[in-house]
Amino acid sequence: MPPRKGSSPSLALVPEDASYEQVALAARDCRACGLYARATQTVFGEGAVPSPLMLVGEQPGDKEDLQGHPFVGPAGRILDEALERADIPREQVYVTNAVKHFKWEPRGKRRMHAKPNMAEVHACHGWLEAEIALVQPAVLVCLGATAAAAIFGSGYKLMENRGHVTTDSPWAQRVIATYHPSALLRMMPDEDAYTQAMAFLVSDLELAASFVSFRTERRRERRPSESLLGRRASHRAG
Ligand code: SF4
Repeated sequence: MPPRKGSSPSLALVPEDASYEQVALAARDCRACGLYARATQTVFGEGAVPSPLMLVGEQPGDKEDLQGHPFVGPAGRILDEALERADIPREQVYVTNAVKHFKWEPRGKRRMHAKPNMAEVHACHGWLEAEIALVQPAVLVCLGATAAAAIFGSGYKLMENRGHVTTDSPWAQRVIATYHPSALLRMMPDEDAYTQAMAFLVSDLELAASFVSFRTERRRERRPSESLLGRRASHRAG
């Protein structure tokens, strides 16, 4: 069953008639689920507000948790490459996650990603709703299964519906689900799988971008793309 508007516990913490900055500030003190307890900080979304295009991932990773910004780690570099190849200026879109605190489990000295459950996704949904209301995207892109579940409900089958444009969502005029960049990270040892998944991710982002328009000045400043293999080498090193 899709998350119902207005039923998320965090929605009660969203200040009414507030600016984007006030909402982001309020999210810093959220205790609507248990994930805050082991995380460094709330990682709220960032980017253009309003924006015609909003990207929703799963949750902050280790680097994001430490730095306090979304998609700044290895998965973020893959997202940057996909956005560049899709000719989407990142600074003109809004990027966030379905869950705002890093869920992890210890493995030796490392903090390993742990998938948030639907109760945690639901608990955090109020912040996502507030972001959507403020950003007012014409197109919403769900990066991965958790983001798709947050928007479409837990029964959504990402692999069956990837790249499909939904036009009857209450959240945006068009919603598209695609791979999460971290899925591509896991595919890197298999070059063919990685290349195909990157092609899907880029084509899904291009499809999303085809419904909106961006300011053009940034495109004149764009530097030539680095080669895919060059970027992949840097991902491995990073
Ligand atoms: S994950 Fe979301 S709902 Fe849970 S404490 Fe963090 S901000 Fe609040």
